[in-house]
Amino acid sequence: MVLDALLSVLMLFVARAVWLLIDGILKGVSGHPSSAGVPTRGVQMVRDPVCGTFVIPDRAVMITDGRRQLFFCSTNCRDAYRARTA
Ligand SMILES: [Zn+2]
Repeated sequence: MVLDALLSVLMLFVARAVWLLIDGILKGVSGHPSSAGVPTRGVQMVRDPVCGTFVIPDRAVMITDGRRQLFFCSTNCRDAYRARTA
C-alpha cells in the first residue's frame, strides 16, 4: 500500500530527527564551549577544616578520621590537621 510506504518514510524521518536531537544534546553536554569553563555545577563541595576553603572531593586530599571523611585543599592542610589532632 502507498500509505504504508509513506508511513515508513515518515518513521525514518522521525527516527532521524530524534537521533539528531539526542546527538545534539550529548554534544552539548560533553563539549559545548560555554559550559566548559563551569566545572562544578551540581557537584557537592566540601570544606577544608583547616583553612576553610571549599574543595571538590574528586580533587581534594582525603583522609578518613574515624567514621568521617575529611577533605583538604592540599597535603599541607592535611598534615596541619593531623598535627593538630595527633
Ligand atoms: Zn586548605
